[in-house]
Amino acid sequence: MTPSQSGRFEGDSWDPASSVGATATMVAASRALASQGPDPLLDDPLADPLVRAVGSTPFIRLIDGEVNLDDDPALNRRTRLEQMAVRTRFFDNFFVTATDGGIRQAVILASGLDTRAYRLPWPAGTVVYEIDQPLVIDFKTSTLAGLGANPTAERRTVSIDLREDWPTALRQQGFDVNKPTAWSAEGLLPYLPPEAQDRLFDDIAALSAPGTQFATEHISDPNAFSEEGVQRISERWRRAGFDLNAADLFYQGERSIVIDYLTGHGWQVTAHPAPELYQRNGFTFPEGDALAWLRDMSYVCATLR
Ligand code: SAM
Repeated sequence: MTPSQSGRFEGDSWDPASSVGATATMVAASRALASQGPDPLLDDPLADPLVRAVGSTPFIRLIDGEVNLDDDPALNRRTRLEQMAVRTRFFDNFFVTATDGGIRQAVILASGLDTRAYRLPWPAGTVVYEIDQPLVIDFKTSTLAGLGANPTAERRTVSIDLREDWPTALRQQGFDVNKPTAWSAEGLLPYLPPEAQDRLFDDIAALSAPGTQFATEHISDPNAFSEEGVQRISERWRRAGFDLNAADLFYQGERSIVIDYLTGHGWQVTAHPAPELYQRNGFTFPEGDALAWLRDMSYVCATLR
């Protein structure tokens, strides 16, 4: 095992309650919260039971409304829920538009506790591959089966670390390189070493038939994951009651800028800056510095040229 500067190391592993896996529960908790109440921003009814089944107190307290951060402009309930709604709706729309356009093969990279394979209106005949670490995949599969939830597409799981040879594992599960595919990498990139991020993009391109589409997130600030940037993220998590140190989870250091890398490697990229998506969703982007990091972020959709 090779130590990295971040506390991460080659071959490290987790379940949804530990290390990087806890971030899957963290975002699922936000989706659960955004799905509550009479006028919810999201409709993800399985997020709540998934988070409860993980059993981590801070996330359960969050979805039970026991964490009040309303005096904090970056963390108040409305801001957090709108943030998650913008993100979830972007990736939902990406898949719905791709399948409306005829795509019938989807790959959700780092699927975590995302329930798209169970809740999106996939057309008949669509195969959805979910890739994540084995304990994360096993937890979601068995918990949702226990709840009687059924996938709305043919769901095939690929239990492997994305730093390993996942393309071979994906093909072994039946992935068809001759079919155009809709790929997503949501909330994944900072958890990969910089060179694994480049390799991920190269592997996706190599597996992609014409007409393929790819959605992910772009951060223009090359120092977003510097020591200082990561400390800011940890501070936000700490205030929300999560006992997680981003410095132990993110791979820090310089990494390729997503739009530049994809554009330079044959993809045509359309970027949607977060403030634009806020507006499109009828939300007002928060003023001031509280969400400065999000102002510089874009959700991107790319097609292979
Ligand atoms: N995409 C999901 C979502 O938005 O709900 C999960 C996002 S969560 C912040 C990060 C996810 O990336 C976790 O599920 C974690 O297990 C997965 N992940 C991070 N590094 C990974 C790796 N090297 N191999 C497989 N999965 C990884």
